[in-house]
Amino acid sequence: MVKNHHLAKSISDTAQLRFCQWLEYVGKIFGVTVIAVAPDYTFRECSSSGEIRKQSRDLRAHRCFHCGYVEERDVNTNKNILRAALCQ
Ligand SMILES: [Zn+2]
Repeated sequence: MVKNHHLAKSISDTAQLRFCQWLEYVGKIFGVTVIAVAPDYTFRECSSSGEIRKQSRDLRAHRCFHCGYVEERDVNTNKNILRAALCQ
């Protein structure tokens, strides 16, 4: 869409900022606290042991070879996001 990579990054950053502002606005309307969480490793990290491993997004289940924890991928990711939000 935009061939200039610097301009594309700027547009992407602006869109992300606008989205965060919109989320905060909607949160205020509904009386909900909105906390931004960096998405780094949220789907690769084991929510039980904290072990991070390379994992394909095609897999629907999270299986930790470190502690043996098995969970649906999205549930594991959501637990990591919730913990990150509560730690802020
Ligand atoms: Zn684990």
